[in-house]
Amino acid sequence: AKRDTGTSYRFYNRQLHISAGHQLQLEADLRNALRAGELELYYQPRVDLITGEVRGVESLIRWNHPTRGLVMPDDFIPAAERSGLIVPIGYWVIEQACERLRQAADAGFPGLVVAVNLSFRQFHDRKMTETIFRIIFNANVDTSLLELELTESAMMHDPDYAQRCLRELSQLGISFALDDFGTGYSSLTNLQHLPISLVKIDKSFVQALGESGDSEHIIRAIISLAHSLQMSVVAEGVETEGQLDFLRDQHCDEVQGYYYARPMPWDDLVTFLHDRNRL
Ligand code: C2E
Ligand code: CA
Ligand code: CA
Ligand code: CA
Repeated sequence: AKRDTGTSYRFYNRQLHISAGHQLQLEADLRNALRAGELELYYQPRVDLITGEVRGVESLIRWNHPTRGLVMPDDFIPAAERSGLIVPIGYWVIEQACERLRQAADAGFPGLVVAVNLSFRQFHDRKMTETIFRIIFNANVDTSLLELELTESAMMHDPDYAQRCLRELSQLGISFALDDFGTGYSSLTNLQHLPISLVKIDKSFVQALGESGDSEHIIRAIISLAHSLQMSVVAEGVETEGQLDFLRDQHCDEVQGYYYARPMPWDDLVTFLHDRNRL
């Protein structure tokens, strides 16, 4: 048994070594990707359950890798967070959102909300508010159409600083959505003093509908509590008509998911909007 341990230790070490090397290579490639314009945003519509129109879109990043093809965020966002590269990438994503807000208005959809994801790591940047302010000031867009999505845990590292950022940014007109709601530890009541106008129910609850009675109760509770706190509710990961019907019955405000559309390039989104939102 002792000899086996020795062998597996050496093997383990080699694995660690390889993965550290991989990590460094990935970070170098990613740094280059940002410069070379290999990062790209896809857009997934959020459909209003009363009007059937697209009220907003979520920006979702992809990496158009020269040899590996389209790389999904779960395969590179963690490395971007570890290395801190998510900070410049995050600002680039907000710049893109401002650009898309202008294009949406030009295409005849002036009220479309464009949402972007904020990483916990971006709250380590002491110049966050200042930098975002500079971006939206230069872009000269209607800031009430820009929405930032963050998770409860994103604010945990330094809650006072995070709260100050949220307050300052909301004074500029920017709105906030609580992402992946239901998976964290805090309750909505803890968050009611924050400028959060929308709650996104995590897709794990939506996808468990019909399998467990628990998810029905949880979704119902989230919707009624959010509404009593004047927050809107978006359900993520809606794939079936059954899920949609349940959410409509519960007065969920908007849904996002493959049932309506997958994330898509901007030009496809404009076509989708023309079909869906009557002008
Ligand atoms: P998220 O913010 O929870 O985004 C929703 C994810 O659910 C997206 O995955 C989306 O494609 C997927 N999704 C939407 N509808 C459905 C559905 O009906 N069924 C299923 N199975 N999945 C659905 P994606 O694009 O792979 O993004 C994964 C995560 O990467 C995001 O989760 C977000 O946390 C992160 N991410 C994406 N873009 C950015 C970004 O620009 N910045 C940061 N910091 N994180 C990002
Ligand atoms: Ca999100
Ligand atoms: Ca989410
Ligand atoms: Ca997620």
